[in-house]
Amino acid sequence: MSPTHSPVPENDARRALRADCTNCFALCCTALGFQRSADFPVDKPAGTPCLNLADDFSCTIHRTLRGRGFRGCTVFDCFGAGQRVSQQLFDGTSWRDAPETSAEMFAVFAVVRQLHEMLWYLAEAEARATTPDSADEATGLARRIDHLLDGTPTEMLAVDADGLRAEVRQTLMTVSEEARAGYLAGHGDDTAGDLHPGADLVGRDLRARVLCGADLRGALVIAADLRGRDLAGVDLLGADLRDARLEGADLAGALFLTQAQVNAARGDVHTTLPSDIARPGHW
Ligand code: SF4
Repeated sequence: MSPTHSPVPENDARRALRADCTNCFALCCTALGFQRSADFPVDKPAGTPCLNLADDFSCTIHRTLRGRGFRGCTVFDCFGAGQRVSQQLFDGTSWRDAPETSAEMFAVFAVVRQLHEMLWYLAEAEARATTPDSADEATGLARRIDHLLDGTPTEMLAVDADGLRAEVRQTLMTVSEEARAGYLAGHGDDTAGDLHPGADLVGRDLRARVLCGADLRGALVIAADLRGRDLAGVDLLGADLRDARLEGADLAGALFLTQAQVNAARGDVHTTLPSDIARPGHW
């Protein structure tokens, strides 16, 4: 139940944070490692090209990733860090053309991905803030990060990403409180005691619950049943939505949702998503 239904406003800053794989040297398929699990059928050490990577940096099994057990590849999102590192920070020269740069390039990718992720959240915080102070805080942090991203690879590796993340987190929490203040759940719903940051909601059937305004930051929502629920004003920052049932759910007004969270969940054509999050191809 929400007093105002507030989808995330269209945001130019967020459009620039979408992955553009055509301008990336497949950094997620090389820099990152993965282990044999429910998400990957094989081990791959960090800093090595995936066995399915083609010479042109495309994936040879792109259309059949899930069927072959590479589900993790369909979930990951670099927030546009790949193209920035490939084209801006390394001037369009790949790790294949200049192998001596690969270690630095992969390390820089890890930093830039974190900075882009922070920008993703801050763009929403700027749009959702209800007080000038918190809006200014979000804008100021985004500007600082933008400035850092204009640096050299060496400067990038010196960035205190943990310190910045702590500042961003504080701002997001302030904006979350502002945005959730008018919703019911967590502020009077007698069943809301279990809807809190970090809650263990694994496998829970939440279809009869009022969720609007709940703070589920960092919660384990794995395989929880949210079908048909309105998630307006629900803070999902860092929540684990793997296999969460979102068929028919309305996430247009959810707070701090990412593409990766949506990719990991289960939904359908009746799931409503924020305008800057794409409907996964496997839904
Ligand atoms: S399977 Fe394809 S998308 Fe996944 S890491 Fe390998 S090359 Fe990249």
